[in-house]
Amino acid sequence: MTSRDVVVLARTASARLRDAACKEKGTVWNAAEAEMEAATTNTELLTAAEPLLEVCWSECPVRNACLEWARIDQYTGVAGGHVLNKGKPRNVMNSRAAMAS
Ligand code: SF4
Repeated sequence: MTSRDVVVLARTASARLRDAACKEKGTVWNAAEAEMEAATTNTELLTAAEPLLEVCWSECPVRNACLEWARIDQYTGVAGGHVLNKGKPRNVMNSRAAMAS
């Protein structure tokens, strides 16, 4: 994929994020992601991530576009209903469904 393709994909994905359920939750999101970064166990990581995952899975109409954007942007944190590291799902139980099982 060329860098121009990446830019076009990123713009398209980000344009679809106007309805993001988290758009008014920046402070909460940043605080939780800071807790995740400081976590020393998967349990601590998931405890910090769970409220964010709940928002993604229960409220957000653009979850798939968000995950696509996060993959392109190599995002680290919670996006698209997953815990990501540089755009890839982390090797933890990283979805609300997995957490419930
Ligand atoms: S899926 Fe989650 S991180 Fe992505 S826009 Fe929706 S609420 Fe925000």
